[in-house]
Amino acid sequence: MDIISKLRKLAETDGQRAAVIGEGGHVLTYSQLNEYSDRLAIWLHRLNGQKSDANQSARPIAVYGHKNPLMLVCFLGAAKSGRAYCPLDISMPEGRVRDTIQALDPEVILDLENDIDTLINIINDPQNTEAEYNPSWAVAGSQTFYIIFTSGSTGKPKGVKISADCLNNYLDWSCELGSAAEEKHGKIFLNQAPFSFDLSVMDTYTCLACGGTLALMEKRVQNDFALMIDFFKKTPLNIWVSTPSFADMCMGEPSFNSNLLPNLGIFLFCGEELTINTYEKLRQRFPDSRIINLYGPTESTVAVTSIEITEEIYKKTIAEGRKLPAGTAKNGTIIEINENTENNDSGDRLGEIIITGNTVSTGYFNNPEKTAEAFFEKDIKNGDGSVSTTRAYRTGDLGYIADGLLYCVGRIDFQIKMHGYRIELGDIEQNLSDLPEISRAVVVPVEKEGHIKSLTAYVITDTEVNPQHSEKNSKNNADISGINEKSLENKNDTDSEFQDLKINYDRQFSRRIKEQLLIKLPDYMIPKKIIMIDRLPMNSNGKINRNQLRSIKS
Ligand code: AMP
Repeated sequence: MDIISKLRKLAETDGQRAAVIGEGGHVLTYSQLNEYSDRLAIWLHRLNGQKSDANQSARPIAVYGHKNPLMLVCFLGAAKSGRAYCPLDISMPEGRVRDTIQALDPEVILDLENDIDTLINIINDPQNTEAEYNPSWAVAGSQTFYIIFTSGSTGKPKGVKISADCLNNYLDWSCELGSAAEEKHGKIFLNQAPFSFDLSVMDTYTCLACGGTLALMEKRVQNDFALMIDFFKKTPLNIWVSTPSFADMCMGEPSFNSNLLPNLGIFLFCGEELTINTYEKLRQRFPDSRIINLYGPTESTVAVTSIEITEEIYKKTIAEGRKLPAGTAKNGTIIEINENTENNDSGDRLGEIIITGNTVSTGYFNNPEKTAEAFFEKDIKNGDGSVSTTRAYRTGDLGYIADGLLYCVGRIDFQIKMHGYRIELGDIEQNLSDLPEISRAVVVPVEKEGHIKSLTAYVITDTEVNPQHSEKNSKNNADISGINEKSLENKNDTDSEFQDLKINYDRQFSRRIKEQLLIKLPDYMIPKKIIMIDRLPMNSNGKINRNQLRSIKS
């Protein structure tokens, strides 16, 4: 697959088909997407020539904005000009945007949020409309196609470089997920994740590579059930791509089911654990849809394993007392469990998941130290006996392989020590979730003077939470060079968009749960407080925002 050539072909065969639909039905056809991105590439090329060598010395292009269809024009225009692009979503906390721009040092910032006119002028400028685009300018091979920043353990974001080869190899696989690529032609894909999160690569490029239509769901809509239901009524989705947490949230609305979305045939989940609980609820609401669990980090181009969770797999999982499997590796990828490991209770060899293969990133942008820590090269024996050197990545995820399937059980860094005891937070969370009154639980450490003093569990129960108090995020306005400061005023310096959390600490409830937990866990693993919460806060990437839970004064 060569995504840029594929889009050029689609512009010829499906020129009038909607490639992407944004707010208010703003449509960009395949022909417009191709032409506008050519013009932007011509402008960028004129600005500073093309990349000068195979190492792609041209600086990257930052693209700031939200769910505007023209974001895709910027991404493709940059790639067609031989430059990497880096998406920055408006939901990113301003401190994070500032750090990212500082680390990226972009050649140009295309700011669609505050200055869309610059792009419109470029697209309409006769100097660009009349000049000819040269396909040889485009990013190719090991050159970086995009850079997505992820949080780093040191507190500074790390830019993951994904090459054209990585993206194209990934698409060869993702286009076949759940159904053949040809069957996805003309289908409507949900885009839930912001473009700054690599999950969006799954819906965006898989959809475009198959000639589908990408439906962009704005954050504003995601935060309001009424708007969201309206969006679903107007958008007959065929293929769903989101984190499991987002589907969980949608299921808070009783009408979210196959009557609302009768054409929804495939759910693709990635980015965090798909819990048995989420699967069960979803299966009831959408009995005939295919539910596919995918696993992978940004560092290996979105996802590397997949499995359809059929009733058979589900029943086997329950019978064996496991979490749902993450499946088998895609072609061109090998999944291994690090050698220095111990066995889990079922005798499976537990350890860090190592990914080797043709979608592993070339490393972190301008960060050789972190690159050397996480990435390495491995010799892989080919079928014909020859050996090839392939890139590998240490995920930091804890997992095991049983019956040929990968199971993810947590992070190697979610292990804590409290009062000298070694504790896996996931272990407590799982035991809490297994209790009949609790459907979901997150346990966070409570620190004092740099030491973990106790644990607090936040749990979702079947009963309504009568709040003792609500939690709101704090404000922090800071300057951001390179971006119009006005747009960032009044934005919260936190990832969370769900600001009002209903929280209730009920002593009797807490005591009752602790008593039940004590049956299964040693007393040093029992959280000091069990607090009811109406939902788990999510960060802008759609994952549970543990930091926000940690910051709650309870
Ligand atoms: P990100 O780079 O933001 O996509 O996050 C990647 C991380 O999300 C992985 O390293 C895992 O810790 C977690 N993750 C992704 N998919 C799954 C899954 N199916 N099950 C459990 N954890 C997952």
